[in-house]
Amino acid sequence: MEFQPIFPRTQQPILIAGPCSAETEEQVLATAHGLQQLGNVQLFRAGIWKPRTRPGAFEGVGTQGLQWLRRVKEETGLKVTTEVANAQHVYDCMKYGVDVLWIGARTTVNPFSVQDIADALEGADIPVIVKNPVNPDYKLWVGGIERLYKAGLRRIAAVHRGFSSYGDSKYRNVPRWQMAIDLKQEFPDLELICDISHICGRRDILAETAQKAFDLNFDGLMVEVHPTPDQAWSDAAQQITPAQFGAMIKNLVIRPTTSSDPDYLAQIENYRGELDDLDEEIITLISRRMHLVREIGAVKKVKNVSVLQPERFRALREALERRGAKNELSPEFIALFLEAIHQESISQQEHVMNLQGKKAEVPVGE
Ligand code: PEP
Ligand code: MN
Repeated sequence: MEFQPIFPRTQQPILIAGPCSAETEEQVLATAHGLQQLGNVQLFRAGIWKPRTRPGAFEGVGTQGLQWLRRVKEETGLKVTTEVANAQHVYDCMKYGVDVLWIGARTTVNPFSVQDIADALEGADIPVIVKNPVNPDYKLWVGGIERLYKAGLRRIAAVHRGFSSYGDSKYRNVPRWQMAIDLKQEFPDLELICDISHICGRRDILAETAQKAFDLNFDGLMVEVHPTPDQAWSDAAQQITPAQFGAMIKNLVIRPTTSSDPDYLAQIENYRGELDDLDEEIITLISRRMHLVREIGAVKKVKNVSVLQPERFRALREALERRGAKNELSPEFIALFLEAIHQESISQQEHVMNLQGKKAEVPVGE
């Protein structure tokens, strides 16, 4: 797939801002004027059909909000976007000149709904931004983008808004950044926008999350902005005022992905050479470890002992956690590392122990 920018612009990053929900015409216009004065916002967002997780919450003002968005365009010159969840929403938006459509996380998750929207858009030339599905399913996200692409759309961008999870987290929707990084790796010309508001769910960590997104080379941000955030009818805890938004953007450092400075290039090349050597050593060490693991497997097979040894695993984890802490490695990394090593060890031992018709025999490593 080959994508085009969602709209032409002279400045990076893409900044999309506006309230979670359009509530009243006054609130919509006040937000839009506040954002327009900042001079760097290109696209105004406001949800008019709100997909709420549970019934009873504010479900949006509906089609009357389209007239308010048209006024935003006329009065501020900002482009406007709103969420569409079915074909009728698409037709209504086109009738009122909405510039960009967005597909929400609860819609991307459903291929029937995305196809319904894609069919309604067949032959149209309008930018569409696709949020990740609520669950961390990479293929479902790509699949949503593909359905639009097949309908002939090329101005498509992806919005990373984090993933639902059960249990405590500092985030409302855990970011799992790797999935967004993988998407950008696979589709380098697909613009990638970070919806920090729905990832964070709270204002105090918006700025650090925005900086993280730019450090990971995101192309832009989507941020919920409201004139009186605490009074917002939806997502109050994560919204900020236009002035707070302006201050946050000013403080962000956006770095280019590379530099042609010869000193930079020389230093980086040195370090990378060292890293490559270390990586090679790590793989050699792990391979030696796996060789021992297979030998143990052979012994276990002869002595008829099971592969998994919970006591030993617990002791190993504690020792590694201690060593990790002493060496500036995070507990999260140690846990992931141990899990990967342990899984590979188990599967290598299983292989040795279940070799059919053969005596316990250690396959020779490379
Ligand atoms: C929103 O942007 O207000 C929204 C409903 O987002 P999401 O689809 O990411 O939950
Ligand atoms: Mn919201």
